[in-house]
Amino acid sequence: MSLLVVGSVAFDAIETPLGKVDRTLGGAASYFALAASHFTPVRIVAVVGEDFTKKEEAVFRGRKIDLEGVEHAKGKSFFWSGRYSMNMNERTTLATELNVFANFNPTLPDSYRESQFIFLGNIDPTLQRSVLQQVRRKPKVVALDTMNYWISGTPEPLKQVLKETQILLINDDETRQLTGEHNLLRAARAVFKLGPKTLVIKRGEHGALMVHDKFMFSVPAFPLEEVKDPTGAGDSFAGGFMGYLASAGKINERTLRSAMVYGSVVGSFTVESFGVDRLARAKRKEIVARAKLFSKLTAFRL
Ligand code: AMP
Repeated sequence: MSLLVVGSVAFDAIETPLGKVDRTLGGAASYFALAASHFTPVRIVAVVGEDFTKKEEAVFRGRKIDLEGVEHAKGKSFFWSGRYSMNMNERTTLATELNVFANFNPTLPDSYRESQFIFLGNIDPTLQRSVLQQVRRKPKVVALDTMNYWISGTPEPLKQVLKETQILLINDDETRQLTGEHNLLRAARAVFKLGPKTLVIKRGEHGALMVHDKFMFSVPAFPLEEVKDPTGAGDSFAGGFMGYLASAGKINERTLRSAMVYGSVVGSFTVESFGVDRLARAKRKEIVARAKLFSKLTAFRL
């Protein structure tokens, strides 16, 4: 089943203890779409500038990624720059240049309007809602990501769009900020009151925790000997998670648990290189192999 994502397609400059790149293709929607395309066809809604050329487009072509909803505007693409601490657990944003993203007004091509699985990437909640308003049939699943900027800056529009959301995928700090609860289980109960009945808390190197109103599930991050660049791990997790759900076509406890594992697996490829390179190169066989290792990693008998 087709999956729609709205979010940023960007250029990133990244510095980690293991290296530095001045300009690489990034953006939440890029990571999400590449990750999800390992499982299901993806439709991107985004805006890029004149600096987004055939070279960048080629990264998406030849995969199950539809670019009809990517608007080409005059000016430069969104640019983000960040630096990671020695242990890579903290990152400082050095620059955020919105450029063409400042006037982004997502418009769904006609062919996107029947999408059944929707991921509202981290953008202005009013725009997230406008995407939902353009969808013709009631979607099977709406999932949403957001960040501190929108939680504190535009709480009311965020609450409105959360009412129409079934799955919220955010990190632990954002969960606490959104709910005012330090304890994540209490925070989850507060999230359920806002709309979503499934909360997926992304916890970086500690993996991810899913709290559903009927069950809980936790996955570790896949253990790797070398992490080069954590950028995009969260968006790739979301892409693997939603891509798997869309390919399964239904939401139940079993598919949600598997989706968590595939999210973590796909995120583990992303962090092995700067930018989207390793994620884009990952083969189906490698993804399945890591998913199998995961089940060994976490299996035990009582
Ligand atoms: P993650 O590491 O999963 O949080 O994702 C990082 C990606 O998000 C980078 O490729 C950035 O280009 C993109 N990004 C950073 N800040 C923003 C923002 N304010 N809005 C949308 N996308 C952003």
